[in-house]
Amino acid sequence: MCKDWRFITSNNKNSMRKVSFLILTIASLVFASCHERAQHSELKTENTKTNIMNNNNSNDSAQVVKTDEEWKKLLTPEQFKVLREKGTEAPFTGKYYLNKDNGVYVCAACGNELFTSDMKFNSSCGWPSFDKEIAGGKIKTHIDSSFGMVRTEIVCGKCGSHLGHLFDDGPTETGARYCVNSVSLDFKKDSTH
Ligand code: FE
Repeated sequence: MCKDWRFITSNNKNSMRKVSFLILTIASLVFASCHERAQHSELKTENTKTNIMNNNNSNDSAQVVKTDEEWKKLLTPEQFKVLREKGTEAPFTGKYYLNKDNGVYVCAACGNELFTSDMKFNSSCGWPSFDKEIAGGKIKTHIDSSFGMVRTEIVCGKCGSHLGHLFDDGPTETGARYCVNSVSLDFKKDSTH
């Protein structure tokens, strides 16, 4: 009887070990599956975020590239001369020099938003002048050594068209004076003001 009892107990212990092992195995498999799903979900979320960021970036920085012949079909001769051949309109003649309406100034070649009316200040230089751009990267700068002077040329960050020049003698706290040809700009008037 004593021997049988030990045999039964031993059998029970073995069965319990097997059941415990089975439970642990199932639990491990379930945990591994959940963990993998969570990782996959995280990766998918990160990829979605990256795609959104890339899309935003690509929209912001999408370059407009055209041949001279294509630009000539889109621009007036005066616009082509200033925007694509770095010309300068005569001072005090531009249509936006004295413009005081509220709105947004955009590149006349590609529509890239460059300045708002809040950034415009009264300037005696003869060209529309602004103390900052709407956002970094909207405008790019180059060193301009023409006419025996060293100046900072400003071009549209999207299509590379010539806008004017940037000086550091502005009257506001930025100290900047973006001196821009009216010919290089179009104006979208804010009808809510
Ligand atoms: Fe442009």
